[in-house]
Amino acid sequence: MEGLSGAVFATHTSPVTDFDVLVLGSGPGGQKAAIAAAKLERRVAIVERRDMIGGVCINTGTIPSKTLREAVLYLTGLTQRDMYGQSYRLKEDITVTDLTVRTRHVVGREVDVIRNQLARNRVTVLTGSGHFVDPHTVAVVDERGNEMKVTADKIIVATGTRPARPASVQFDDQTIIDSDGILQMDRVPDSMVVVGAGVIGIEYASMFAALGTKVTVVERRERMLDFCDLEVVEALKYHLRDLAVTFRFGETVAAVEKHPRGALTILESGKKIPASTVMYSAGRQGMTENLVLPAAGLAADDRGRITVDEFYRTSVPHIYAVGDVIGFPSLAATSMEQGRLAAYHACDEPVSGMNQLQPIGIYTIPEISFIGKTEDELTDSLIPFEVGVSRYRELARGQIIGDTYGMLKLLVSPEDRSLLGVHVFGTGATELIHIGQAVMGCGGTIDYLVDAVFNYPTLAESYKVAALDAVNKLRRVARITD
Ligand SMILES: Cc1cc2nc3c(=O)[nH]c(=O)nc-3n(C[C@H](O)[C@H](O)[C@H](O)COP(=O)(O)OP(=O)(O)OC[C@H]3O[C@@H](n4cnc5c(N)ncnc54)[C@H](O)[C@@H]3O)c2cc1C
Repeated sequence: MEGLSGAVFATHTSPVTDFDVLVLGSGPGGQKAAIAAAKLERRVAIVERRDMIGGVCINTGTIPSKTLREAVLYLTGLTQRDMYGQSYRLKEDITVTDLTVRTRHVVGREVDVIRNQLARNRVTVLTGSGHFVDPHTVAVVDERGNEMKVTADKIIVATGTRPARPASVQFDDQTIIDSDGILQMDRVPDSMVVVGAGVIGIEYASMFAALGTKVTVVERRERMLDFCDLEVVEALKYHLRDLAVTFRFGETVAAVEKHPRGALTILESGKKIPASTVMYSAGRQGMTENLVLPAAGLAADDRGRITVDEFYRTSVPHIYAVGDVIGFPSLAATSMEQGRLAAYHACDEPVSGMNQLQPIGIYTIPEISFIGKTEDELTDSLIPFEVGVSRYRELARGQIIGDTYGMLKLLVSPEDRSLLGVHVFGTGATELIHIGQAVMGCGGTIDYLVDAVFNYPTLAESYKVAALDAVNKLRRVARITD
């Protein structure tokens, strides 16, 4: 059942409300909330705007950007150049069409998968934009302006975010764009200024640098990705500089001027950077402005975010909020889990709360992933640790795939030999991290990794090599004090 016409609620047995659970937004948070509630045999509906099934995640964020990255890696042949020489390319003159063909294909398939999952689980899809009429009633307005009202016992807000656009910048969606605009570009620019070295900014900076675009990254702070391991970030910066990326840290953009032949980014320090395209990656704004939150007794902060408790309940207990609209960490991965947990709580199912051990994946080129603490965090908290390192160039698999720069680092407690943190840089980092997560989550030690037999030749073997390195260092300390 889809669209406003589909909302004929004749099948209810003496319903007080039309639905048990109504979800606003079909991104990872909303989608998993709706399916979880449906699996618990609740009457569930999800409200979503036309052409946005799957949310920002599928349509403009995670999935298109990661598919674009895959297309860039494949077409540029970047990862094969160690093997076949620096001039190796699968295709010269890569066009936007070459890149978007793959993106459109994957997005189409993913939307289909989600529609199918919702249908299979009998989740009613109400197409339109939802807003509160009162704490239990939502009006859904379709693109023709038709409005219908639906009521629900529990409501889960999962409306996500949109790119924040500083008022001082004249975005034109061609020369001066935000991260949504990347997907609408009509050509691969020869030069680009990326304003903001957050995760999204730096992921796109590395993709365009790999395509041969001359990229300048401007960041107000002195460091980028300061929540990551310093050594890993240094390695990333080295690689990006090698791809002709220029970093301007500690610099603020004063103005961006549009000219017939491109844009001029003027920094407060007086520097002027010409480029064909300027991409602003200046944070995101919660999609709450059209929700009429006061009608439900709710309010958002100045960045459009809604405050929730540990069970994702807002200040109105039957209304929940999950995903990017509640702020940090604003990842698809966590949004999904928040959605499931909120739905369980709303349906009186026991919930254990969000697992605190959460991986971070950054799809730069090369990619980064970590879990647990960084060296800086441990040092600041006066927690002693030993480091075990494995370098891909010393692994047979590293040589076979031509990744000679990758590395895996284990931070180990000298007291009980448990893992305090795992940091991976290079091919497969975002997959490899889950081995460390499993060991940490199960309270394992480096001794498990030393004793385990890994497939050979694999990158996973790096865990054993790094664990042996840490054990040897711990042994050296023990010998001296014996
Ligand atoms: C470029 C980019 C790359 C990213 N890469 C990654 C990554 O690699 N890994 C990762 O984990 N995360 C990544 N993210 C973050 C990830 O996309 C988000 O964390 C995730 O999409 C948030 O999910 P959500 O459930 O909050 O909803 P969203 O995906 O934000 O979707 C919200 C939905 O709500 C709908 N909506 C809004 N208002 C209304 C309304 N009034 N009525 C009905 N529907 C409404 C919108 O149309 C939208 O479809 C990336 C984000 C971006 C922008």
